[in-house]
Formats: sequence, structure tokens, C-alpha cells
Amino acid sequence: MKNLLIILFFLSFSALGKAQTASQARENRPKLIVGIVVDQMRWDFLYRYQDRYGEGGFKRMLREGFSCENTFINYVPSITAVGHAAIYTGSVPSINGITGNSWIDIASGRSVYCTEDNTVETVGSSSTAGKMSPRNLLSSTISDELKLASNFRSKVIGVSLKDRASILPAGHAADGAFWFDEKISGFITSSYYMQELPEWVKRFNAQKKPETLIKNGWNTLYPIDTYTNSTADNVIWEDTFAGEEKPVFPHAVDKIYKKDPGVIRTTPFGNTLTLDFAKAAIEGNNLGQGDFTDFLAINCASTDHIGHKFGPNSIEIEDTYLRLDKDLAEFFTYLDSKIGRGEYLVFLSADHGAAHSFDFLAANKIPGSRIDIKKLVDNLNEALSKQFNTDALVISGTNYFIHYDHKKIDDAGLEFDAVKKASINFLKKMDGIQYAIDIERIGEAPVPEPLKTMIINGYNSKRAGPVMIIPEPGWFSGGKKGTSHGTWNPFDTHIPLVFMGWNITAGTSNKIYHISDIAPTISALLNIQMPNGATGRPIVEISDRIVK
Ligand code: ZN
Ligand code: ZN
Repeated sequence: MKNLLIILFFLSFSALGKAQTASQARENRPKLIVGIVVDQMRWDFLYRYQDRYGEGGFKRMLREGFSCENTFINYVPSITAVGHAAIYTGSVPSINGITGNSWIDIASGRSVYCTEDNTVETVGSSSTAGKMSPRNLLSSTISDELKLASNFRSKVIGVSLKDRASILPAGHAADGAFWFDEKISGFITSSYYMQELPEWVKRFNAQKKPETLIKNGWNTLYPIDTYTNSTADNVIWEDTFAGEEKPVFPHAVDKIYKKDPGVIRTTPFGNTLTLDFAKAAIEGNNLGQGDFTDFLAINCASTDHIGHKFGPNSIEIEDTYLRLDKDLAEFFTYLDSKIGRGEYLVFLSADHGAAHSFDFLAANKIPGSRIDIKKLVDNLNEALSKQFNTDALVISGTNYFIHYDHKKIDDAGLEFDAVKKASINFLKKMDGIQYAIDIERIGEAPVPEPLKTMIINGYNSKRAGPVMIIPEPGWFSGGKKGTSHGTWNPFDTHIPLVFMGWNITAGTSNKIYHISDIAPTISALLNIQMPNGATGRPIVEISDRIVK
């Protein structure tokens, strides 16, 4: 009896000790951090449709959270992989190495996809879409630093329809990153993380949610004549879905889905699917229920696919944001009940914005037009060939960087400086090109700030060509219909940044902040180390917790 009492005494003592550790761990940190990156969301979209947003989504974030109204991307090019890498590393392409969705490896001349990895295998499908990892990302992420700070007891999960927008945010030490695969119309991963899909992912995929979400096709949420924030439905600059004669509602995406499940990406249901999967990730991993802060990185990718097809002034985009607003409201309500109001920290931002469609600009007498990069490179090669007697000296103009065939230049005994100089003289005379710059000599170039710094920040000499072209405002490279992004201009680089929840003060600031400040701000809030390539600074206004 006496022995039993002693055992009971020690058991209760150790239980008490464990409880104290848990509450201490939580006391200074949120239970869960949720990063929401809305793909291609321009800052003005927070306000553009506000008369039609509900109270629980974007408006709740602006009401309860802290909005940094002037947050800019501080590098070029403004592209998905680059944006996600910058947000989560608190750094810029020059340092974190992610200079595009794809780039030219300067040493080999080969085109490299940002998250390609031939040493790993797809998990969950027989497709090759899972041969991916974060190995090309050169620096640590805020999610990695959270892992390090908790001695790997925090859990980190990445979720997106796009591989790169799930993998790069989740970082190197993640428990898992998941993305959509056409072949199974569900979520997959890579053997970099695990050898088999977790049960919760298998269960989610087995529910066949994409089929249910898309089964009625895509019509507008409200009567179409109420979409007065957008241009008419049938305009020449909008692209069509396969089989459509005109780019108009209702879009019979349910029929297309039967042949091509990937079409869900280009509908608002892709965002709904992603947020449903995010909830499944929270349930399946007990995120926010343990003694240490967990991290869920979410990318809503459909906004980008729809923007590319229809442009930012379309009814399709307005409808997509109205639906996303509802989805976010529901997601925040879910987090309130599952994790607890004030117990989780959310930030919402974007990887880049978007330009207006070329023909939309023309129809409204605003300057701007299309740059056909392939044709530009062909013309440049022709000019260089006349001068240097060698064909095809330029191999690509990808991401607005001019890439050269260095072997050819060496074999022909050409001075590289002379080739670069001739290129610049040719390029800067072309329509729509404002600057052509030898980046290694940018100190001498008459380029105004902040553009000069943005070019330096975007240049990684192993993964980007040494000459950069900068188009005039409104000019950009892209398809003839819909739109694109990638330039330094505010339409591409002015992004939303709103923090909400755990220890966030409600408020607004019009100070200039940068995409690379997001990760250092989270570091400051949580008292954890910044990512190892971070160049950004903490935004001290957002919380009383950060000592000013
Ligand atoms: Zn994007
Ligand atoms: Zn895009």
C-alpha cells in the first residue's frame, strides 16, 4: 500500500511537470502559424471588391489584423517560385538561389525547374510529378528555423496545387509537402519526405472532392449583371477553355474535367479544394494540438491560373475572389473552433501581382504592349551573328535575363565583354525596352532606385544571365490573351500583407515594407533565429510583443 502511494505520488508529480512544460512552451508562442499565399493577388484586390466581400474573410483580416499596405517585392523577376522562396527565406534570389520557376544553369546551359530532383520518386501516383524536393533552395526557411528552435518538435506541412508553392514554403526539414497530381486527381508527395502517402492523404484522395466541387460547372456566384467591378464577359483579350467558342459564363468545366482533371486548377474550386485539404492536414497531423508551435504553409494557386487566362479585370477574377473570400471566412471559423481564437497566427500575402491584358490597356488608351522574348532573342542572335560571324550566341531570354552560349563564345575566341556590349546596344533600341543592363557593371548604369537594387537582388550569377532587359511600364512578356507577371512595376510587385491572430495589434501602416521582411517578422514575434540567408527586417509595428 505504501509502495503504491509512493508510485502514485511520483506519477502525479511527473504529470504535473509535463503539464507545466507544455504551458510554458505555449505561453510565448502561438499553437499554429498559418501562412496563406494567394497566387497573383494584387494588393488592390483587398479593396477592389470590398463592397461585395463578407465580414469573415478579407474584411475580418483588415478589421482584426494588421495590414502593411505598402509591401513590395524587392527583386526581379516577380514569379511564383521566387515569391514563395522570398517570403519563407526572408531573402532574395541572389542569395536563396530561386531566380525563376525555371532558370538556365550557367555552367551547363541546361534549363532547370526550381524544385526538380531526379534522385527522388513520386509518392502516391505513377506520374513523374513527384520527382521534386527543396534541394535547389540555397537557404533555410522560417519553417526550418521553427523546426530548429523547437529541436524538431514543431510540425511543418506545405499545401498547394503547385509543387513549388508547397515545397519551397515548407522548407528543407518539413514533415511533408503535398501538391495536386492530374493523374490521380488528388494530392501526392515525394520520397524526399516519406515513402508512402499518410493515411489522412489517402482518405482525402478517396473522397474524390475535385469531382464533387466541379460537378455543376462554373457559373457566377451572383447574377452576372451585378459584376460591375469588371469588364464585360465577352472581350477579345480573354482566353477560352478547351472547346469553348467564347470566353463566357457558364464555363462547362465539369465536362472538361472528365478528360482533364487539371482543369480544376483554373477554377475557384481549386482554392476550395486546397483549403479543404489544409483542414485535412490539420486534422491528420494534429497541428496546433501539441506542446510546440506548428506551421502550415498554404498556397491558393487558382487565382493565378484564372488570372493568366482571363486577366485581372475579368468577371472570372471577381467571381474567384468573392468565392475565395467565403472560403477564407469558413477557414478562419474552423481555425477559431479547432485551434482557438487568438491562439493561431495567420499571415496573408502574395507571391506577385499581375499586369493588365495588352488589349485591355490598348482599349483604354493606357501605354503598354507585348514583348515577344523568343523573337527578340532571334533578332538579337541575327545581329550578333553579323557582327561576330557566329550563330546562336544567345540561348535564352528567360525571366528577362539574357543567357549566352559560353562554350561557343570561347571556341570562337570572342571577347565576352564585346558580345555583351553589342547585345546591349541592340536591345536598348527595341520597342518597349527601357533598359538593357550589364548586371556586373550595374554600379555605373544610369538606372533609378529602387530598380537598381531590385536587379541586384534578383541576380544569382550561377543561375541567371549577365544581361537583363527591363521593359517600359505596361510592356511585358506573355501570351497574347489573358495576362502575366514578372516585371518590377507596382502591378506585379505591390502585394498584400496582413497579419492576424496571436498577439497581433489591429491596425494599418503605410510605411514601405518588403516581401523579405515577412520571415524576420515571424522570427521577432516568436523569438527564434532568422532564416540563414535573411536580408529582411522585422516589421515592429504589428505587435506589442516586438520591442520597438
Ligand atoms: Zn504565382
Ligand atoms: Zn503566374
